[in-house]
Order: sequence, then structure tokens, then C-alpha cells
Amino acid sequence: MTRRNPESTRRAQECIYCLRLLEAPEFNREHVLSEAFGRFHKPPMLDSVCQKCNQFFGDELELRFARGAFEGMLRYQNGVKAPPEGAINLQYVEFAVPEGKGYWSGVRLNLVNEGNGLRVGLVPQAAFFDQDQQRWIHVTEEEFNGGFLTKRPDLKKGQMRIHTRSRQEHEAFVSKLSEHGVKYEQAGELQPSEDVLEASEMEVDVTFTINQGIRRCIAKYVFNYLALVAGSEFVRERDFDVVRDYIRHGASLRIHWLSKAPSRYCTMIDPHYARPAVTFSP
Ligand SMILES: [Zn+2]
Repeated sequence: MTRRNPESTRRAQECIYCLRLLEAPEFNREHVLSEAFGRFHKPPMLDSVCQKCNQFFGDELELRFARGAFEGMLRYQNGVKAPPEGAINLQYVEFAVPEGKGYWSGVRLNLVNEGNGLRVGLVPQAAFFDQDQQRWIHVTEEEFNGGFLTKRPDLKKGQMRIHTRSRQEHEAFVSKLSEHGVKYEQAGELQPSEDVLEASEMEVDVTFTINQGIRRCIAKYVFNYLALVAGSEFVRERDFDVVRDYIRHGASLRIHWLSKAPSRYCTMIDPHYARPAVTFSP
């Protein structure tokens, strides 16, 4: 006697994201919150997200969010994920020396794991004085290679500082600058500041970007959670199409629409954190 898989007996249903009507085998179990952010004893799951949407979200939204965003850094900090050895590139997070540290203010830093946890380190860089803004602009080698000076040709003529970790690195950086048409004549030495990079602990400025991809990823977690507590049927309502389009395609989210929530729904969230009672009034 063979046991029937309860999944195979389930009726075809619409995916809560693409709304395609599909048979049960075309769905996989979707974690409401990506496993990248932690494993739970009984993780909240959905069975109403199709494989294609699941794959798309994993590749297009969650990978960049978990690896490049501020939350990516928190995963390393909180031990959810072991940091890789060496310099850690987080695409949407930047570190710098805060104001009030003399000529070190604004110096760009990177995140490094040298086997003893996360540390900040100095990235070879040049700083140009911007006459209009009356402040120093710090530029890394990567940004020079990315055509920074063609966007700001005015900066080439002003004062310049070079921050590197060694004489050798300094010379390599100067020759890199000459490839970009920047002439550098050294007028003096910058004294290392003991309370900045030599200190065992230092305060740093952290600047992180929340772009559309990150917003869409967070919106997906919220929508997943809504499907979990309110049920898949509820979120399949066409009123949510605008949210679906935003999550799937980045279509502009008409925020004003949310303030005009259809009056026919009356949602009461159970205070005991169970499924909400959803009442449809005529
Ligand atoms: Zn789908």
C-alpha cells in the first residue's frame, strides 16, 4: 500500500505573487523570512509561492540584500554568518572616520576580517579639496578606475592628500594617479593620529544605502508575513496587485493608494498573535 502525498492531492492554486494557476508540484515551501537571516526551530513557511517566483526573489532580491546591505553586516556581527577572511565588500555600506579628527575626518575605511572578527581598515585613497563646498572629498582607487575624475575634472587642480598604509602603497597609488592624469608633488607628511587608526577601538561613521532593490526585498518579507497571518486567499485579492507589481517588477508604488484602503475590509488582529480575523463586509 502506498501512502498518498498530501501535497499531490491539493487543488491547483494561484501563486500569491505571479497569480498563475499552478498544480501543487510547482510550488515550493517559501520561508517567510529568508534563512540567510537565521534558522528557527519552527520557521514560518508559506506553500503558496511558486518555484519560479521563489527562484527569482532569491537571485534578484535576497542575494544582494543579505550580502550587500547593512543587514548583511549585521549577519556577520551577530554570528548568523561567519565573515570571509580579508576585506569584506558590502556594496551598500560605507565606513569613514567621523568629523572632528583633523585631517583624518572623512577618511574612507573598509571592513576586514583578519581571523579575529570584524575590524575597520584604511583603504588607499586620495582626498581633494573641493573649493565650492569647502570640504575634502575622499576617492578610492576603485572610484578612479570607475571614471570619477571625468565627472569631477575640477578637483584635479586643487590641494590633494594621499592616505595609504605604507610607503610602498603610497608610491603605487601615486603612479596609479598619474595614469589618470593627476600630477602629485608631495609637500609634506601627514602625521598618523594615535586616536584614529592605531586605537584599539574607534568610532566610525556608517553610511548605508536603502535602494529600491532593498525596499522591494523588505516589502516581500512584509507581504509574506501578511500571507502567513491573513492567509493566502486574502493577499490574492486584486487590491494587492500594486504591491505585487512593486515587489516583482519594481513598478512604482502608489503610496496614496494605501491610505485609501478599501472600506469593505475590516481586519482585526488577534492580540494573541494568532491568525487575524478578517471580516468582509458587503
Ligand atoms: Zn509565482
